[in-house]
Amino acid sequence: MNELDSELVRGQLAVMGYRFVDRPEAAQVLVYNTCSVREQAENKAYSRIGLAGLRKREGEQLVLAVIGCMAERDGADMIRRHPQIDLLCGPGELDRLPAMLDNALRQQVVEIADRIALQGSRSRRTATLSAAEDNLEFLDLSRAFDPDGAPAGGRAAYVRITRGCNKFCTYCVVPQTRGAEVHRTPDAIVDECRMLAERGVIEVTLLGQTVNHYRYVHGMALTVDGQEAPQVGPGGAAFRPGRASEPASDARRTTTFADLLRRIHDEVPAIRRLRFVTSYPRDFGDDILDTMRACPRICRYLHVPAQSGSNRILKLMNRGYTVEEYLAFVDRARSALPDVAISGDIIVGFPTETDEDFAATKALLRQVPFKNNFIFKYSPRPGTTAIERFPDDVPEAVKRRRNNELLALQSEVSAAVHREQVGRTVPVFVEQISAKSSRRSARDGAGGLGLTVHGRTLATVPAEAETIQLTGRTATDLIVAFDLPSGERADDWIGRIVPIAIHEAESLLLRGRVASARVNAKASDNAS
Ligand code: SAH
Ligand code: SF4
Repeated sequence: MNELDSELVRGQLAVMGYRFVDRPEAAQVLVYNTCSVREQAENKAYSRIGLAGLRKREGEQLVLAVIGCMAERDGADMIRRHPQIDLLCGPGELDRLPAMLDNALRQQVVEIADRIALQGSRSRRTATLSAAEDNLEFLDLSRAFDPDGAPAGGRAAYVRITRGCNKFCTYCVVPQTRGAEVHRTPDAIVDECRMLAERGVIEVTLLGQTVNHYRYVHGMALTVDGQEAPQVGPGGAAFRPGRASEPASDARRTTTFADLLRRIHDEVPAIRRLRFVTSYPRDFGDDILDTMRACPRICRYLHVPAQSGSNRILKLMNRGYTVEEYLAFVDRARSALPDVAISGDIIVGFPTETDEDFAATKALLRQVPFKNNFIFKYSPRPGTTAIERFPDDVPEAVKRRRNNELLALQSEVSAAVHREQVGRTVPVFVEQISAKSSRRSARDGAGGLGLTVHGRTLATVPAEAETIQLTGRTATDLIVAFDLPSGERADDWIGRIVPIAIHEAESLLLRGRVASARVNAKASDNAS
């Protein structure tokens, strides 16, 4: 029974892109499938959990999941005694494991990003000055784009449009670590997209903490030789009702986020998919939605974190919107773009969060068809307003319970969103060979994620894996797995957009078949 569970989990994770390594020490994700039948088996599991705890204490970034009967039997008590365990998943809940792992990894990435930001960032006080002489600008433009190291066979790339943030959500370190919002010049961004397209990139994701606040007022920031320079953003005030759509009072030309999207879409047609993260639920104008509707190569996908479903908590977070306003935004987005996919982030256990507040967050998840939500347990961060103002008074066990409850609910919502795709044929941007069928990459394991199950490392790919499975994403960011038709080379498919007929849905994954045997330029034409 346990062997079968391990195999099923392994298969699921392989399709999601996890790679397997030979030794537990090389793994960044450890999954122990446990058995409660004999004491000896339990002791063995506890000794492995102890070793993982040591690695964590030494500062290693590691996700530790315990699945199976011990998880079910000892439950929350196990986590209390072994706080190094990130996830517990009983045998009846294994289909939720990929989403739980995904979420735990995302939490880790955010924390790592914070730490990296702290090392090299400037303080807010000097941000205005340094924006004018922004060496980072040149770094972006001259970056050595290495197609071999880039995702999807070198055909996908990120382009930063804004650094820093002017929002001051009370829990967040970004404004401290990354400084004030600084917008790159539209020309620099378009040039970089063009440069990437010339090197074969067909998917560009624009990056910023609140991309919809992108706003460049021409003629305001210049270098010594008269060229346009990166510019400190105007902050939320520029988006107060009535202001955003009015011409600037000094009649200076402004490039808004909608203008920027339009420019990239029109000036660099070789980019077949243009995406952006992260959107802020406030100040997302109809002009952006109109541009998305008018431009077929802009993906109908919004990552627009709600953070909480309770107005009281949103206020304490200083998010500047109510749940009703969030819902109104979602309605507006869905009526402008009926096929839009929406994802987000939620924080559970924010100081003073009651069961009632939490129930409101669950209600929000039931109301909006989120394709996925990353769920974070509130963690007090030095330098934030929240850590100074509010005691971290929601016990860890409560945070963990809310986190797991929400993950379970989100799994149901995600599954429903994914099910809607069954029977459709959708263009899929092929990104990689799934580990399930990738013999070489599974053996290499270098730099990838590893998986250890049931105290054994399941590192080898079954010898009988003859069919090669590929994974990619729809324009709405849903992950799709499908088999490479026999006689085809995987390398010829990675980095292309191909039509896939969807026949099956899981909570975070669609499965399909190639709809037309021929992969040609025509198949890549449609991004939506
Ligand atoms: N700029 C984006 C979010 C960037 S940080 C936005 O405003 O939506 C990514 C996510 O990390 C946030 O959406 C939030 O859910 C989470 N996060 C940030 N600080 C956190 C903290 N102190 N504790 C828990 N989660 C946090
Ligand atoms: Fe800025 Fe996002 Fe952090 Fe809020 S959560 S301060 S918007 S980065």
